[in-house]
Amino acid sequence: METRPAFCMKGRNMMNVLDRFLRYIALDTTSNEACPDCPSSQRQWALGKLLKEEMEQLGMSDVRLDAHCYVYGFIPANTENAPAIGLIAHMDTVDAVPGSPVHPRVVRYMGDDVTLNAEKGIVMKEKDFASLRRHVGKDLIITDGTTLLGGDDKAGIAEILTMCEYLLNHPEIRHGRICVGFTPDEEIGRGADLFDVAGFGADFAYTVDGGCAEEIEYENFNAASARVLVHGFSIHPGSAKNKMRNALRLGMEFHGMLPPHEIPECTEGYEGFYHLCAMRGEEQEAELRYIVRDHDRQKFEQKKKRMESIAAYLNEKYGENTFELTLKDSYYNMKEKVQEKPEVITRAQNALKACGMAPACVPIRGGTDGARLSFMGLVCPNLGTGGYNGHGVFEYVCLQEMQAMTEALRSIIALPAEG
Ligand SMILES: [Zn+2]
Repeated sequence: METRPAFCMKGRNMMNVLDRFLRYIALDTTSNEACPDCPSSQRQWALGKLLKEEMEQLGMSDVRLDAHCYVYGFIPANTENAPAIGLIAHMDTVDAVPGSPVHPRVVRYMGDDVTLNAEKGIVMKEKDFASLRRHVGKDLIITDGTTLLGGDDKAGIAEILTMCEYLLNHPEIRHGRICVGFTPDEEIGRGADLFDVAGFGADFAYTVDGGCAEEIEYENFNAASARVLVHGFSIHPGSAKNKMRNALRLGMEFHGMLPPHEIPECTEGYEGFYHLCAMRGEEQEAELRYIVRDHDRQKFEQKKKRMESIAAYLNEKYGENTFELTLKDSYYNMKEKVQEKPEVITRAQNALKACGMAPACVPIRGGTDGARLSFMGLVCPNLGTGGYNGHGVFEYVCLQEMQAMTEALRSIIALPAEG
């Protein structure tokens, strides 16, 4: 393993995508779930302003940074009858791990474990991170093991703008209108909240926010949250016979009636689950909070129905209003929207193939901003960035995959309308 300075990179585009990436990750843009404002942290403005300036300098049109730190910019069509295609990435990073100061390093991966920080003994082990095996002989941008890298999703931003720069320098490449949007607060689930779908004006879009560059994601969970409030009756335990209704125990009874294997720990692929994510309480009152997930809309509805019927049964047993169940849908599987425009997936698949990649469609066991946008009228599957191990100190980005994605994005834009 050797450390390679940036100027060793071959190819101007690779330099550009790396330079951009390093500039963006130098800024701490951690979002803050506890803050209800948008953006949820003031520090996201620095990147918003930098991107606005950069997009103006590149010669993009109608560049604007709005009052909530969303950045938009466009490249006009230079041919008729091509769709307006949107490309979207997010500026914030997750707050679970320190977001700064990032000390990135570019290393040529030759197999084996990667020492991120010799002093602190932080090592990225090949046996823990199987994805490393696909990068032998490639360059990885890694951290010093104390912070995030910020590849999620600044790699996506760097790829989109490097592609835009290329198109603006190559007017001979024919394309429809290109709509670029960068959002704040994706990591706290609010990136789509104030997205200006109408002003964006794309016929369809892609978020560039995934992992492996070959993966196309357009199937995500249907998601709901559930709150079970249990009203008990507290009385001195010495004289409780036939009187006490211990809310804690009743809460456990509710939980015990859910299918024991339909939990995150026992499910994968397309299997849904009920996840108990918080519980608190005393004899008098207890509360259980769940998230409910399933790719299949029908099974998703059945899962919610099951919770309702358990609550109804227990209310029958213990008295009306003992259990108060509140279910709230969070987002839906974008597949049903994407199926109305299958050419959006075909287009991405063809573009990846044209760049020598083997596209694979994989279900997301979560949600994306694109899922929300798809139900706001903008069909929006997710593409990879070449970033791995997001949301942790072992996050890294493969430089050659960033480069490949930059080319794939160009190919998506430049393909004929019918794909
Ligand atoms: Zn992301």
